[in-house]
Amino acid sequence: MEITASNPKNWQVQEERFEESRQHHKETIFTLGNGYLATRGTFDERYPGDRQATLVHGMWADIPISFTQLANAPDWTGLEIWINGLRFAMNKGEVRVYQRYLDLRTGVLYRSLEWSPDEGETWVMLTFERFASLADQHVLVVQATITPLTGQVDIRVRSTLDSHVNNEGYLHWQTHYQHSTPHQADLVVQTKHTEKKLALSTRLIVSGGETQKTFSDARGCPGIEARVSEQPQDQALIVQKFVGIATSRDLDTPLTMAQDKAFGASKTGYEAVRFANQKAWADFWKISDVRIVGDHEAQLAVRHALFQLRIAAPTHDERVSIGAKTLSGFGYKGHVFWDTEIFILPFFTLTQPEISQNMLMYRYHTLDGARRKASENGYGGAQFSWESAETGDEVTPKFVPDFYDPGKLVRIWTGDIEVHISSDVAYALHQYWQMTGDDDFWIIIGIPIVLETAIFWGDRAEPEQVQSETEGEVEERFSIRDIIGPDEYHEHVDNNPFTNRMAQWHLDLALNSLEWLRENTPEKLAELVAKLDITYERRGHWANVRDKLVILQDLESGLFEQFEGFFELEDLDWSEYTGRTKSMQELLTIEGANQSQVIKQADIIMLLCLLRNEFSKETWQVNWDYYNPRTDHSYGSSLGPAMQAWAACEMGEPDMAYEHFMRAARADLFDVRGNANDGIHAASAGGLWQAITFGFAGLNFVDGQPTINPRLPSHWERITFKIKYHGQIYMIDIHPDKFSIQPESSEHVSGASTPEEVI
Ligand code: BGC
Repeated sequence: MEITASNPKNWQVQEERFEESRQHHKETIFTLGNGYLATRGTFDERYPGDRQATLVHGMWADIPISFTQLANAPDWTGLEIWINGLRFAMNKGEVRVYQRYLDLRTGVLYRSLEWSPDEGETWVMLTFERFASLADQHVLVVQATITPLTGQVDIRVRSTLDSHVNNEGYLHWQTHYQHSTPHQADLVVQTKHTEKKLALSTRLIVSGGETQKTFSDARGCPGIEARVSEQPQDQALIVQKFVGIATSRDLDTPLTMAQDKAFGASKTGYEAVRFANQKAWADFWKISDVRIVGDHEAQLAVRHALFQLRIAAPTHDERVSIGAKTLSGFGYKGHVFWDTEIFILPFFTLTQPEISQNMLMYRYHTLDGARRKASENGYGGAQFSWESAETGDEVTPKFVPDFYDPGKLVRIWTGDIEVHISSDVAYALHQYWQMTGDDDFWIIIGIPIVLETAIFWGDRAEPEQVQSETEGEVEERFSIRDIIGPDEYHEHVDNNPFTNRMAQWHLDLALNSLEWLRENTPEKLAELVAKLDITYERRGHWANVRDKLVILQDLESGLFEQFEGFFELEDLDWSEYTGRTKSMQELLTIEGANQSQVIKQADIIMLLCLLRNEFSKETWQVNWDYYNPRTDHSYGSSLGPAMQAWAACEMGEPDMAYEHFMRAARADLFDVRGNANDGIHAASAGGLWQAITFGFAGLNFVDGQPTINPRLPSHWERITFKIKYHGQIYMIDIHPDKFSIQPESSEHVSGASTPEEVI
């Protein structure tokens, strides 16, 4: 196959054959959306056992006392088709010439096939197109064409808005209002406990045949029907379904808005709505695309990853953020983790900082929840929750069914003691400021969050008295005990260098920010100092903690110890586990992994990546040599491989980096972990971008300038991508033997873009 950026194959995730056993995986990877919502790639006419879902940002529903999750919204895609009275379904009659693909360039999901309801006597050709407009987030569209191939047929079509949906068995909606006429169907539903309203309105335009329209009004499922008798052979009947959507988060009367959107789109017409969507996608790709020449699989994977991140990224509402599984599945219930700040945001911060800013605002708006969490734990300031939803309060479940033995419950400790998230948020805020130079945001939003979370760290660090090396003297130091670091195979550990070093970095940042405020805006400094009670004493305490926090590192070799006692744990002979198909935790049991030097995901290596400019080559090397071989790369956390790829590049090992990179690249497209059904591995998707830019391209920022230091895998012929740094777009172009990083001229930046211009 020709590998060029314009080759459509490099933009299409395709399926040539439908396999029932893989339908849930495919539903996830064919998810489309627009940052307001995302819809899994189930069939319009549905399929037995499918896991249909549309998840809309902010539509939180509670199962009282137990948990909060994003409610699966009514199905807007529903389109049933009858040919000569027989209902079309992929598991009925005969299907041939089937093809389905998601066009990443335009966000449209296509399907085409020929179907016979009656053992080959009658054949019709069916095509479907579906998209959620990126140009207007309240507009959703389905188009189907039905073409008789073997003589005339009677056609009946029913387009519905179906509230009979669930979240793996949980029912969240009650119907508030429904109404149908032959021209329009409306549905308003409300979540039972959180009382959030969601409204849908739809219109149906049918052309290419003599149509009679009626309506259907089943409870909770209003619809419009169209019938055509004796549709002639080879004449396509074109059915266009326009849907408007709005929620009570948008306005008090969401139905009016949904109706206006459906009506407006139907008047504008399918082609124009589609073109506007295409243009919006072209604008996205213009700044976001990463081109990889010489590797079709990597190329498609990275585009798919960036596509999936964009459709999950809210641009309209700064009180929501991207969950660990985006909006593409029920995994982790829509909850937001450190995955967002550390893995996903760098892509947005360096291409579309306004999107990043929006999600950083989510942390600002959920500070009250973080304050409550700190105070419930007996600390001052704000402690971000490990899993966060609407309010920022901790929503990590305390128990979940054992993954390996669902009859058993496993205690989940992360919500109690995985505390590094507060520094992760500070890190992302600081990175945003560094990359954009947006001082206003830093002053008004960034610094206040950094300071409030620093208050938490000041309280969380435990003072200890230890015998000093000088005999008889006692020294003060600080520890952070009983925590979980990024490597979740080990729980209740003490002084994890990732956690401690990031807390130290965080306190240092807080102190420097106070200095920076003094120089740049003393009034703001006075205001914050008074508001947050940042006394001289407190500052002194922060400096003391920063300077005396335990960092388990051998100063001579540079080797970190992952936590106190890690080196004493059993060191496994990994050759005994070659060819395994299970995680090391599954093989060793939870307790067994806890007692061994086996790591779920980059932990010390992650620290090296985040603070990369602070460590010497030797420190990188000694830690890489120790921790890389002890990590469960294939079956541990999906967050690991992309970071491992970046780190391998820092070690000058691009081909080894490539192996790690492809593990991340295949997580969704090939479902190598067998859990893609739960939704896109969002952190891995964001990690792919970082592995390419920071890893293979060696993008770094030195003395206020972006620089590159390429180390491409040997078979890559070229990569190109863009970044936005302090408002300036830079084009990076790397070949094996030459490379450049250049500011894009203003003529390039401005001007209308058409979809064709992207390539
Ligand atoms: C990982 C965490 C991650 C979470 C959500 C866990 O398996 O260990 O680092 O935040 O998944 O993706």
